[in-house]
Amino acid sequence: MPEVHILSGGIDSTGVLYRRLVEIPNEIHVLHVRRDAPTFLPGLAETKAAREVAVWLAKNVRAFRYHEVVPMQLVGKPCSNTVFASCGFAIGDYIVRNPFISKVVQGSNGSPEDQTPESHFRNRYRENICAAVCDGYAPAPEWLYPHATLLKREVYQYMPPELRALCWTCANPSRDGDRFAACGACSKCRELQAAKEAT
Ligand SMILES: [Zn+2]
Repeated sequence: MPEVHILSGGIDSTGVLYRRLVEIPNEIHVLHVRRDAPTFLPGLAETKAAREVAVWLAKNVRAFRYHEVVPMQLVGKPCSNTVFASCGFAIGDYIVRNPFISKVVQGSNGSPEDQTPESHFRNRYRENICAAVCDGYAPAPEWLYPHATLLKREVYQYMPPELRALCWTCANPSRDGDRFAACGACSKCRELQAAKEAT
């Protein structure tokens, strides 16, 4: 059964994509929803990471389809409900064009910060927008959350070290040429550091 993933290049989306590529023989399609603008470093760094993760996985695990989409309302935006809405729209649009895809796989994990009422609301919000886009054109997909009972550090530990090293998650990076440095202080950096320290 073909399935589609959203890949940001962070631990959660990279971890669940790696697991599915290794463990499940499904045809896999991957969407990276870009939010990069020339001066928006978090979006530029995220897209760079997603591409590096995709290249590594295709070379070291197995082939999959990789696409990038650029919803204009996301360009230069920090993570917000707008991002979740656009991801729901992007997946729905992709399924309308590829109606043989029946599953969406999301990397939400079981850590307390990923299981808040707001997190659950965002997941339902994204699913509902996807279903609304599909309505009349393709059956709404089933959404799977295979890592919903794992802690973020368990998702991190499951990945090979080279893949972990490519994961990127920082809301406030700095830039030197084509390289980005994480701030080390934002909530995403602290989550990554906690996962590393537990490994
Ligand atoms: Zn940071």
